[in-house]
Amino acid sequence: MRIVLVGPPGAGKGTQATRLAEKLNIPHISTGDLFRANISRQTELGKLAKSYMDAGNLVPDEVTIAMAKDRMEQPDAEGGFLLDGFPRNVSQAEALDELLNTEGMQLDAVLDLEAPEEEVVKRIAGRRTCRNNSAHVFHVTYSPPKKEGVCDVCGGELYLRGDDSEETVRTRLEVYHTQTEPIIDYYKTQGLVVTIEAMGPVDEVTARALAALKREGDEK
Ligand code: AMP
Repeated sequence: MRIVLVGPPGAGKGTQATRLAEKLNIPHISTGDLFRANISRQTELGKLAKSYMDAGNLVPDEVTIAMAKDRMEQPDAEGGFLLDGFPRNVSQAEALDELLNTEGMQLDAVLDLEAPEEEVVKRIAGRRTCRNNSAHVFHVTYSPPKKEGVCDVCGGELYLRGDDSEETVRTRLEVYHTQTEPIIDYYKTQGLVVTIEAMGPVDEVTARALAALKREGDEK
């Protein structure tokens, strides 16, 4: 399956993407994680991306598309993938279509995670991410780690992502509304959008997502 996950920052895209990718047995490709890995390795791409990410803005399309393309062309992604955080604007969506078309492939679904604005702000403010692995995510109130500041999975240090600060979150939400939301209409014209409510316990949201993807698959 080839799936795109969309939703505002704080809707739980990363958490759901990890779980869905495992259940569906496809790689989870997160452009945000790829950028963060480049930042930790202090690559040129990481240095460039950091300035945009810290401000809550999108990293320029040219480097983002090249990085995503490179990842999608790895052998493990041949049979499908779940894209998390890419595409994030219409020109990236067009570039993805072009890439898939040249390979004779197409997307199966675009899963749209819906969450009210005040809730995503609360989620992001309390979010704590592991320095070793940004897929290990906790929340000070909703899913606290057993020991404060320490990742339950690997013992890594938990921190508040630089771009999770209140001011940056406002910019990220604005960027989401103006640049990313239009891709939902773009994909609606292709009949690919499946919308689910992203609120509630993590397991329930995963079950809702799997059921919606199955329905979408059955209808095709
Ligand atoms: P995420 O982990 O998906 O919330 O992404 C964190 C940040 O990485 C975003 O706020 C952007 O600055 C950058 N980023 C991630 N994916 C993209 C993308 N597809 N296009 C441009 N910037 C991106």
